[in-house]
Amino acid sequence: MSLQIKDLHATLEDGTEILKGVTLEIPKGEVHAIMGPNGSGKSTLSKVISGHEGYVVTSGSVTMDGENLLEMEVDERSRAGIFLAFQYPSEVPGVSNANFIRAALQARLPKGEEIDAVAYYKHLYSKMDLLEMDRKFTARAVNEGFSGGEKKRNEILQMIMLEPKYALLDETDSGLDIDALKIVAKGVNSMRSEDRGFLLITHYQRLLDYIKPDHVHVMSAGRIVRSGGPELALELEETGYDFLKELAPA
Ligand code: ADP
Ligand code: MG
Ligand code: MG
Repeated sequence: MSLQIKDLHATLEDGTEILKGVTLEIPKGEVHAIMGPNGSGKSTLSKVISGHEGYVVTSGSVTMDGENLLEMEVDERSRAGIFLAFQYPSEVPGVSNANFIRAALQARLPKGEEIDAVAYYKHLYSKMDLLEMDRKFTARAVNEGFSGGEKKRNEILQMIMLEPKYALLDETDSGLDIDALKIVAKGVNSMRSEDRGFLLITHYQRLLDYIKPDHVHVMSAGRIVRSGGPELALELEETGYDFLKELAPA
């Protein structure tokens, strides 16, 4: 059981190739981190896996526990168990956070089954407590006027509530403060299990101080150019990405 990416090539709609043959396997139970310089294609990889619009897969495959993800629409992938933070519109005016997550959960149930509202709120509140989120948050519209840290908490809350098989978490390079990082780590660590795989995308090593990955990969110019254990992240912290220049094709 794994999320398997084989020789994946993808372009922007104008034909510019961004992913130039990415091969990566994330077995259930493992946390893989992808690091790499800005512009190397890390966010594009997560978007292509989740089916985000704006990218064209030109060759290669992405399968989840043997199922071909590339044949599925974005919402089908999500229901099948792929989670990507912000695969939804970043602001959904008028829809409260609580109802947004509830609708996503409802969409996963067989026809005719209804979510029990009392049980739902009890579960939601217990997870919000874990993430130290204010109860007022549930009534606010999705992502409306959120600070960076609030967005991150919300993203992790969605992940916890949706219980994905594979979670893709892109730290983005927006400079999260240490509290937001710790929340991401707490959420991820609480969800680590034999039944779930994680792909953590991070430009900086610091997130990996809080979440110990099983494997670390370095992406550069649309490819994975190095893979190793957690020590690779520490090495990169020391050396930076300068070594990539030596690896670059002439
Ligand atoms: P990373 O997450 O590693 O910083 P990205 O995947 O965001 O890298 O971007 C990889 C390259 O693709 C960059 O050169 C970026 O400008 C370009 N790119 C990605 N998505 C788009 C897009 N939707 N439109 C234009 N350029 C894009
Ligand atoms: Mg290739
Ligand atoms: Mg990025």
